[in-house]
Amino acid sequence: MRIGCPKEIKPQEFRVGLTPAAVAEVVGRGHEVLVETGAGQGSGFTDLDYQAAGAGIAPDAAAVFAGAEMIVKVKEPQAAERAMLRRGQVLFTYLHLAPDPAQTRDLLASGVTSIAYETVTDARGGLPLLAPMSEVAGRLAPQVGSWALQKANGGRGVLMGGVPGVRPANVLIIGGGVVGAAAARVAVGMGANVTVMDRSVARLSYLDDIFMGKLTTQYASSAATAELLTTADMVIGAVLVPGAAAPKLVTRAQLATMPPGAVLVDVAIDQGGCFETSRPTTHHDPIYEVDGIIHYCVANMPGAVARTSTQALGNATLPFVLALADHGWRRAIQHDPHLRAGLATHEGRLTSPPVGAALGLAS
Ligand code: NAD
Repeated sequence: MRIGCPKEIKPQEFRVGLTPAAVAEVVGRGHEVLVETGAGQGSGFTDLDYQAAGAGIAPDAAAVFAGAEMIVKVKEPQAAERAMLRRGQVLFTYLHLAPDPAQTRDLLASGVTSIAYETVTDARGGLPLLAPMSEVAGRLAPQVGSWALQKANGGRGVLMGGVPGVRPANVLIIGGGVVGAAAARVAVGMGANVTVMDRSVARLSYLDDIFMGKLTTQYASSAATAELLTTADMVIGAVLVPGAAAPKLVTRAQLATMPPGAVLVDVAIDQGGCFETSRPTTHHDPIYEVDGIIHYCVANMPGAVARTSTQALGNATLPFVLALADHGWRRAIQHDPHLRAGLATHEGRLTSPPVGAALGLAS
């Protein structure tokens, strides 16, 4: 199969759909790969790296889209890219169609067979192509939060690990899923005093087991949240209610009960945010202050560490890319119901019932 990898054109997107290592695997199985010139630049991969792995380099996106039977990307196709998709071609990328009727219409009109990363499942009921980005955002959260805690950034001037004789920072993590567990790992590693809250007792039990006394778990009641906020130097919002906007778990009035200069890192901002005072920010201007509390609410946190994120995403997508290339999409999804769960559109038909329900379209 001939696989195309264009340069991402969404603003501030530095990741790329295939790493040179993935290209080498795909080419090693007898497939061809065409990479747009400069596609890997934002992640630190040169055209020469791709050529050494066996890819051909295309001068522009048009050449990639025209020549490829399957397009592997990161972000949903932008309008200019959608105009180049066609019937008989496979598109494998993040799509997030439910809130995006314009994109859905264009994909249906193009006739392309699109498979969405975010709805591919695994045997444990997880979302294996979303998890790596949650891992990245979770591990980054205490890192950016500790930067915001520094005095020059408006924070309370508290060192995460303290020093002998001075207590470490109190870090409260609300939501102990993939993001929360990854954040806990780094915050514990930095020497902070960490509490993780969740509504799932089974999840708290799991965290209690793996961290072996290095953090405290707490059932996420409103009363416990209110109490822990009064001593928190940093709060990391990491909740997810599948298919719904994030619940608001800290109100504006509660900011006044927190130590001045404390930091809120709202990782759930891509689902609307779990603090009442959260609004999306960018990597260029990541923090703002409300009632003396510093807020960090970057909606695409993995973009800050594009190289790591590209590699993590590539590791997770590679087995599916190989299956699609080796067997063709039809046989690949017949063999693998988890990949089948990613099928979003095919020859003008919507094949994802949740997207159909969200947009009021037949599927
Ligand atoms: P997950 O499903 O693995 O974990 C979510 C956890 O939240 C679950 O354990 C669930 O029990 C818990 N939860 C739900 N409601 C709760 C409540 N009221 N109180 C306490 N806990 C509650 O999800 P995840 O992969 O960890 O993702 C968490 C959030 O991070 C999502 O909103 C996701 O979209 C977001 N995210 C953001 C970025 C970014 O760049 N900002 C990147 C990756 C993920």
